[in-house]
This record gives sequence, C-alpha cells and structure tokens, in this order.
Amino acid sequence: MKVIVSVKRVVDFNVKVGVKSDHSGVDIANVKMSMNPFDEIAVEEATRLKENGLASEVIAVSCGSRQCQETLRAALAIGADRAILVETNEELQPLAVAKLLKAIVEKEQPQLVILGKQAIDDDSNQTGQMLASLTDLPQATFASKLDVSEGRATVTREVDGGLQTLSLVLPAIVTTDLRLNEPRYVTLPSIMKAKKKPLEIVSPEDLSVDVSPRLKTLKVSEPPTRSAGIVVQDAATLIEKLKNEAKVI
Ligand code: AMP
Repeated sequence: MKVIVSVKRVVDFNVKVGVKSDHSGVDIANVKMSMNPFDEIAVEEATRLKENGLASEVIAVSCGSRQCQETLRAALAIGADRAILVETNEELQPLAVAKLLKAIVEKEQPQLVILGKQAIDDDSNQTGQMLASLTDLPQATFASKLDVSEGRATVTREVDGGLQTLSLVLPAIVTTDLRLNEPRYVTLPSIMKAKKKPLEIVSPEDLSVDVSPRLKTLKVSEPPTRSAGIVVQDAATLIEKLKNEAKVI
C-alpha cells in the first residue's frame, strides 16, 4: 500500500508574527519556519503504517518555494521513503494545492493520502476536503485514530458529544487531528539518512495545473487589544456591572 503525506512549510508555532505596516499580510521575513504540526502527525502515522507492515512506501509531498526541501527532508527523517516538491514561488491557496495533489495522486495511485486537518498559517481547513472532492475519493477528516485492514480504513473522529467511527473503502483521504499520535523525536542518524533519500522536483506546469490565486486578501490587521480588567468588591457589584455596563445579562 502506497501512502502519500502532504507537508506544508509554515511559520513555526512558537513564533509570534506581526502584521506588515501596509496591512497586506504578516511579516515572515527571517522568522523560523517548520513543518505544519498536523503534517508532522500525518508523516508519523504513515511511518507507523510502514513499520507495522501495512504500507509499502511513504511519499511526502510539499508545494511551495525551494525552501520546502527542508520540510521534505524533515519528513524523510521521520520515516518517509521519498519526496516530491512541487516548486513554485506563486502564493498557493488551498484549491491550487488540492489540484496539485490531485495530479500527484493520479500519477502515483496511492491507497491512502494523509493531510493535516489545517495549516496553522492560513487556518483554512480546506485542502483535504477539496482533494477528496476533486479526486472523488472517500474522506475522513480530523482523525484521532486510524486502522487499516482488508482494503478499508477505519477512522475515529472526535465530534461534539462523543466519537464517530467511519469505515472507508481505500483509496481514501484522511486528515489528522492533534490526538492521532505523538510524533517521534528525530535522531541524528535519521537526519543523515534522510539526506540520501530521493527528492524529485516538479513544477505546476509539469502537472498541467493552473495555481493562480482565486481569492484576494483585502486587509490583514491585528486583533483589537483587550482593555485591562477590574477587581470588584462583591458579587452584587459584579452583577450590577454585567447588567448595566457590559450589558451581557
Ligand atoms: P489548509 O487547508 O490550508 O488548512 O491545509 C490543510 C492541509 O493541507 C495541511 O495540513 C497540509 O497537509 C496540506 N497542505 C496545505 N498547503 C500545502 C502545501 N503548500 N504543501 C503541501 N501540503 C499542503
């Protein structure tokens, strides 16, 4: 069973980004970049499938600038066998990424595609769903448990008020939630080994995909700053303020 995992290069989750002075976006010049945390979980899950004898090959795919090679090397260090970079300097929106992934799915014919549930930079939570729609494959989003056997994937999802279990016929698309697994600590020998694994570079034109943006960002601004809180003397004063000042009760 071939498994494809998608990995996005994003601003590291520890970095607090600032809005650019012209409000056109956030300033990411010279900030630390890392693999999207949900994608790290996807690579870990695919690697475990391989270690358990369920997957034969794990292919990591990233779409974006040349620097995404670092992200792919990180995926190879976790355990992916080979990597594909769809290199472009265009701004990539979820629909464009889904189209690129569809082209790779058609070429590689995987049984399973694992994506993160969302990228922590754009918070779109769209690419997996769009890919499922474009490829017409079954999907299970926000997986917190994944079992594969006899041509089916059984996926547990945390939903409001409990757990939902879905059974999908493979090939299928799965997106990862935080509790699916805890990615391993990558060792130095794995990082060294990853340097020798194959990394293929293709362009959107090679895949005949038009990646031009469909959405235009009008303005990005900081959230309003919160005013300082106050300490009230007793419950009666609190109720009076909630009623007459905040007008929330
Ligand atoms: P989003 O829909 O942007 O929140 O992203 C959801 C998931 O799609 C991410 O966790 C990745 O697995 C995948 N994805 C999004 N953008 C890219 C990209 N440029 N390269 C590779 N995978 C991506």
